[in-house]
Amino acid sequence: MSTPKILILGAGYGGLLTTLQLQKKLNYNEAEVTLVNKHNYHYITTWLHEPAAGTASADHARVDLDRIINKDKVNFVKGTVQSIQSEEQTVTLESGEVLSYDYLVIGLGSEPETFGIEGLKEHAFSIRSINAVRNIREHIQYMFSKFKQEPDRTDYVTFVVGGAGFTGIEFCGELGDRLPELCEEFDVDPSQVKVYCIEAAPTALPGFDPELVSYAMDVLGKKGIEFKIATPIKQCTPDGVLLASGEEIKSKTVVWAAGVRGNSIVEKAGFEVMRGRVKVDEYLRAPGHENVFVVGDCALIFNEEGRPYPPTAQIAVQEGETLGENLAAMIRGELTQKFTPHLQGTLASLGKGEGIGQVGSKKLFGSTAAMMKKASDLRYLYKIGGVGLALKKVKL
Ligand code: FAD
Repeated sequence: MSTPKILILGAGYGGLLTTLQLQKKLNYNEAEVTLVNKHNYHYITTWLHEPAAGTASADHARVDLDRIINKDKVNFVKGTVQSIQSEEQTVTLESGEVLSYDYLVIGLGSEPETFGIEGLKEHAFSIRSINAVRNIREHIQYMFSKFKQEPDRTDYVTFVVGGAGFTGIEFCGELGDRLPELCEEFDVDPSQVKVYCIEAAPTALPGFDPELVSYAMDVLGKKGIEFKIATPIKQCTPDGVLLASGEEIKSKTVVWAAGVRGNSIVEKAGFEVMRGRVKVDEYLRAPGHENVFVVGDCALIFNEEGRPYPPTAQIAVQEGETLGENLAAMIRGELTQKFTPHLQGTLASLGKGEGIGQVGSKKLFGSTAAMMKKASDLRYLYKIGGVGLALKKVKL
């Protein structure tokens, strides 16, 4: 019998953890494992709000795959997936290369969900990759330098963050720390700089405990963030945003952080999706496809009350680990296990030394939450790259 081919698409949390688990569990030559990723690095998506605002370097959120992948066990292909042909069991890359598989793992992450709001796709930034956040950081700096030349153009120093969910709030926390530094660097009066965080839902951080929400809004309010809650954005233009209330905010920087959908490659491949995400079974299989598995933001799983779990790194990591073990078991004809997420809590940063969190029934505020978040980052770095990586990357 020929060696089974396992093809993993995407080296994000889900794809990388599947790969690392296979690397650990399989002996040499038990399977041909191939990982395809756009870049030769993994990025820590949960940190991207920092380089986007400019409070950390983009390189800090990058982990070279060379460092964590054992090339004797995993074949790494740097390439961009163009399409998946599930009937032929092949994947085509933008380079024209065609890869075949016996087992496919899809971990291609997400795309911004714009809810059909006119102009967002064209005119808003989003926090989604190393290159995207470099772009945001440089643009913000450029806006300060333009404002120095045209001081009546306050739209240059007006920043709109669409969405007061997890990502939007974390980005506002960093922006609140960064803007005073930029004001000093470019000699701009801080009172001229405005940051609006606009949310359509009736509350910021929907799903969080109200006491934590109020703490977060208070901390960010003190950093100069102005909230507009229960205020949908109707349109985004090159000149700013138009709100459903009729108000127009003139801004050259709109960052959309109000939701994600699964990578469109999955839907285009003909898999049944809801907001781009495949409703997988308890073994993380795509319905009707015994040998296709989906992890991370491309996968949709439900809790016991039938409500979808939000797309998080925490769940993507657990899915990857379970799937890696299951694939190794399948190849050996052993029993596989059903996937059940074990939620360890939620932690959101609010800028340097500040955060909120909920771990079980315990609410965490301020520096305690920020420290817990660092501890959770450390655990993740240790998991993927051992003590060396954890010590190199973690910021204390
Ligand atoms: P990703 O981690 O997004 O990785 C997808 C990979 O696929 C990337 O390497 C990408 O380059 C690659 N790829 C994409 N398209 C292609 C293609 N066509 N060809 C080849 N490769 C491709 N979650 C938490 O649990 N806790 C948090 O604190 C938290 N904070 C967050 C903060 C921010 C600013 C953001 C944006 C998200 C945050 N999240 C958090 C959500 C979390 O980051 C995602 O749920 C998680 O990254 C999903 O993992 P994934 O494996 O599905 O995809």
